[in-house]
Amino acid sequence: MDDCLFCKIVKGEIPTQPIYQTETIYAFKDINPQAPSHILIIPKKHIDRIENFPETDKALAGEIILAAKAIAKQENLKEGYRLVFNNGKDGGQEVEHVHLHLLGGRSMQWPPG
Ligand code: AMP
Ligand code: ZN
Repeated sequence: MDDCLFCKIVKGEIPTQPIYQTETIYAFKDINPQAPSHILIIPKKHIDRIENFPETDKALAGEIILAAKAIAKQENLKEGYRLVFNNGKDGGQEVEHVHLHLLGGRSMQWPPG
């Protein structure tokens, strides 16, 4: 998608601080961190929302979680971390390209705002 912010990030048109990548996944530091470690994990392929995640992309869906696991280890988040998909309007999704927030380095509250 030409006008998608995260597709531009995948293409290198917008600079980021990369954390991790595979053939299918890219992860980078959130520009407005809400925790000492705040990393966004995205599929390189454009998928706007979870409800449009293709049934044929089950492996890719799993790779997002496994990337979180690898990054948490890389970031030494031994005390735990939070994984969040903001999805749609009520979910607080601002960028319409599926992304998993990995937040760590501090204790989290529940319920979220
Ligand atoms: P969401 O509200 O779940 O759609 O989250 C979008 C996230 O993207 C926010 O946490 C933003 O701080 C982050 N963000 C927006 N632009 C950039 C950028 N250029 N580089 C890194 N993170 C960004
Ligand atoms: Zn996109």
